[in-house]
Amino acid sequence: MLRFAPSPTGDMHIGNLRVAIFNYLLAKKENIDLIIRIEDTDKKRNIENKDKEILEILALFSIDYKSVSYQSQNLKYHQKMAMKLVEEKKAFACFCSDETLQVAKQKAKDENKPYRYDGTCKNLSESEVLNNEKSFSIRIAKPEKNIEFHDDLRGDFSFSPFEIDDFVILRKDKSPTYNFACGVDDMLMDISVVLRGEDHISNTPKQIYIRQALGYDKKIRYIHLPIILSKISGKKMSKRDDSSSVKGLLAEGFLPIAIANYLVLLGNKTPNEIFDLDEAVSWFEIKNLSKSPAKFDIDKLRFINKEHLKKIDEQRLIKLLGFEDKDFGFLAKIYLEECSTLEELKLRIKPYFEEKNDISEFKNDFLLLQKTIQEAEFFDDFEEFKANLSKVSQLKGKSLFKPLRYILTGSHKGPNLSAIYPYIKNYLGEITK
Ligand code: GLU
Repeated sequence: MLRFAPSPTGDMHIGNLRVAIFNYLLAKKENIDLIIRIEDTDKKRNIENKDKEILEILALFSIDYKSVSYQSQNLKYHQKMAMKLVEEKKAFACFCSDETLQVAKQKAKDENKPYRYDGTCKNLSESEVLNNEKSFSIRIAKPEKNIEFHDDLRGDFSFSPFEIDDFVILRKDKSPTYNFACGVDDMLMDISVVLRGEDHISNTPKQIYIRQALGYDKKIRYIHLPIILSKISGKKMSKRDDSSSVKGLLAEGFLPIAIANYLVLLGNKTPNEIFDLDEAVSWFEIKNLSKSPAKFDIDKLRFINKEHLKKIDEQRLIKLLGFEDKDFGFLAKIYLEECSTLEELKLRIKPYFEEKNDISEFKNDFLLLQKTIQEAEFFDDFEEFKANLSKVSQLKGKSLFKPLRYILTGSHKGPNLSAIYPYIKNYLGEITK
């Protein structure tokens, strides 16, 4: 069983979507189930409806899965298991105040050392615990030996007890910490493969250790994907990067199929550059992925989006642009010379039907042409249409073409009118009104 475990704490980041896509590809490839686990235990950071938004995005990208669960529903198991570890003396109550811990963390920071718990509450006697009325968190006592694991992409890892530390598993409000809830749930859900971002590598030994302490010895396969860096700053794509939010990219008019294509292509050896997820299932291999961070290149995504827009059926394209007639789908495709996204295409097609007011430069010629077109018979051929206009209006050269382009397209520049005419000839009344 595979799982994708997003936190409903913000807009879905492209790095998270990439993790979801790779989980989906691996599930299909290996014919194992994928489940979605919404990790909503950190109540302070949860944002209302982000869970629904995440599920909507997965649907938009055709990432199907077996079931959805919410981590908070497992709270009683998290608490029970923490208490089991306390009873077995594998975990202990910690009464240290937030202030004390904060001071110790600051001291470590000032000394440029990693912060580690100083063990104050580790060896309290039973009566010291029972007679203490202060609220407490629960910490797991660090392991005695190194925790080792294998990552299918990166090889072997070994973490020392010092690196793992006596970490908190249940907060003072008795909610589980991320590592504890995740370690327990992966066990309860019988997860066999964890594929997630490399920012979780240091969490993995903690989660393995939690399961070991609970007596669960099934090995989980791990794959930690490289992070995505901003091409501009060279740093991890942050929430502030415009192109890091999936919602943002969709609003800009990138197609889900193109975004998915790009995220699979990034840092991967693929047999071709343009593909959909169904094709990717047939050749996808973890070993072809690069271990190094990938750089997000919006120009490459634009190129890929354009290629998918070229392949789309004209009827579907025009629906996506918010119009009806297939002819305008053909028209939109002409604009793919200069446009790469749906939003850019909309900006070219919409003005055809909008009121055309920017005519000061050629007002009289414009009005004359408008009237001539409205009164003219139908011409199938652009040359005949043009010749007739010129004859009736007596306009020639620039005086004819500049206003004509504007009347027909709502723009002062663009592709050859002869290329456009076949797709608009049946709608001249509407366009020139
Ligand atoms: N909820 C975690 C996150 O969104 C993912 C944890 C995981 O995949 O283990 O980063």
